[in-house]
Amino acid sequence: MSTINILSRNTKRAPLVTGGQLSYRTVLLPVARVARAYAMYAANPRFTDVSMIVSPTSPNNGYVTFRPSNPECAERMIEQFSDDRARRAQTTLDNALTYEWDSNPDGSEICYSPKLNKATGEITYDAYTVSPTSCDCADYQYRCRRLNVQCKHQIAQSLRRQEGL
Ligand SMILES: [Zn+2]
Repeated sequence: MSTINILSRNTKRAPLVTGGQLSYRTVLLPVARVARAYAMYAANPRFTDVSMIVSPTSPNNGYVTFRPSNPECAERMIEQFSDDRARRAQTTLDNALTYEWDSNPDGSEICYSPKLNKATGEITYDAYTVSPTSCDCADYQYRCRRLNVQCKHQIAQSLRRQEGL
């Protein structure tokens, strides 16, 4: 079984952020398989910081987290992560959906972020308080903030400010 196969089969796309660094995680596996997966990643010199985590909500299951040991790979992961946010902000605009904005007295803005339900064509909005240094969306709070990367709402806000709107 090659490393690439393990990665594509067992790894969720959304990386975790722990200790200011991005980690990969496997999908949720039965505990017996978690131990085997742990042994496999721990024995592979391409990976570091390998940990076994038991699911708090489902104690018969768990997953393994790990990072690439090559610093250049780790750096590329963060660049990729940041590029993904820029792409998400742009994709929204490319789909002719618009972010709607409201100002708060403290200079922050409320971003109404559109979400298209592809099945029904219905558009709904999530509201977030956004400034260049913070956003209250989950992506910023749990991932971007810890990596010093801007979320898609902050990117949309800075695009808008560049256009002088
Ligand atoms: Zn955000």
